[in-house]
Amino acid sequence: MKSKYDMLIVGGGPAGALAARTAAEAGNTVCLIEKRPAIGTPIRCAEGIGKDILKEFIKPDPRWISADIERARIIAPNGTAVRLEQDKAGNEVGYVLDRKVFDRELVWQAAEAGADVFVKTRATAPIMENGAVRGAKVISAGTPVDIRADVVLAADGTEAQFARWAGLDTTVPLREMMSCAQYLLTDIDIDAASTDFYLGNDVAPEGYLWVFPKGERTANVGIGISGRKSRDGSRAKDYLDRFIAKNFPGGKTIEAIAGGVPVCRPLPCTVADGLMVIGDAARVVDPLTGGGIGNAMFTGRLAARVASECISAGDCSKAALMPYDAEWRASRMGKFLERNYKVKEFFITLDDKKLNALADSIASVGLEEFSVSALIRELIKRNPKMLFELKALK
Ligand code: FAD
Repeated sequence: MKSKYDMLIVGGGPAGALAARTAAEAGNTVCLIEKRPAIGTPIRCAEGIGKDILKEFIKPDPRWISADIERARIIAPNGTAVRLEQDKAGNEVGYVLDRKVFDRELVWQAAEAGADVFVKTRATAPIMENGAVRGAKVISAGTPVDIRADVVLAADGTEAQFARWAGLDTTVPLREMMSCAQYLLTDIDIDAASTDFYLGNDVAPEGYLWVFPKGERTANVGIGISGRKSRDGSRAKDYLDRFIAKNFPGGKTIEAIAGGVPVCRPLPCTVADGLMVIGDAARVVDPLTGGGIGNAMFTGRLAARVASECISAGDCSKAALMPYDAEWRASRMGKFLERNYKVKEFFITLDDKKLNALADSIASVGLEEFSVSALIRELIKRNPKMLFELKALK
């Protein structure tokens, strides 16, 4: 480990890995640190991603694809299923990944491009000089080390501690932190080509429950509920256990995970002097679906590109790094985040009766495009009164 790099990246998830690969390919000296002993594990993810999004960053490889998805079903509280067929692009959930292998592949690619990678290496504080971030204090395999860098990229995920230590406000309101639990269940009867989403107050208050296939008889069965709905006897795990007891009583649990997903708006500003914030740490998870892998990779790559230019120009001030913040906000991703935030805020106000009515209104349609946008368009077309508030967001 050198004591000085062009770029230091804190966190070895998809955001950090894409940033490291991009920065190394551009000829920078790059250090990627990951606090865990192994990249990609334990996973905290249902592992779904759209095919078109994925292909923007990496060539699909059967080594890390667990399932190829053909359709999605949204199941209303009364059991009505809305079916969305996969379009050619596979806009929403096209693949269910094996993230243990996928995350490693991304980091391997970064290492191959020339980035130094250190696991069991935790950032404990930023090195600050005159209000600017100049690196990080880390503990690497038990030994304290200072790593200096022209730019630090905070890619440390939902907890986003690094950005907070550097003075950014990363607070997520309790109601906007989804509390999640998930089992990898096997020996269950599922449709192995369909991702299923269950809605309803008794199933997943202000959230949803998912069944994402990982094989013919295996699936990630998980749930996210609003943090404010979580209490003794009604935690995410309690809802999930009840659902599984009813629907997959013979299922065998291979893995159990818990985690949080921020479904708030992104950070008001994702740069500071010498610092850029990417991925979940920047709160760029889709607030409607909770999907964040693609957005993490997008922000990681963009931040590394902008940082490379700033390093070449010898100016890594907040003003110089600002094009990163401006570009992702103006991008398709930035616009979707804003729209989906508003859609989410509206949908959590709907009771089961309204959700049933909406599902009934389009259950027979058989949507041929597999995207949130197409779904919203169709819902508004058939329920103009109920969804008046969403009209502007089509
Ligand atoms: P992460 O993948 O969280 O990576 C951050 C890394 O930083 C971690 O490896 C962590 O160990 C490391 N780190 C943290 N602090 C430090 C430190 N101080 N020093 C060094 N390293 C540090 N998204 C989807 O697109 N599809 C889904 O189906 C989906 N399902 C989900 C289900 C659940 C239950 C949860 C919790 C999330 C889900 N997500 C899903 C969201 C997705 O997992 C994240 O959006 C994605 O992993 C974000 O990538 P990231 O690189 O920003 O952060």
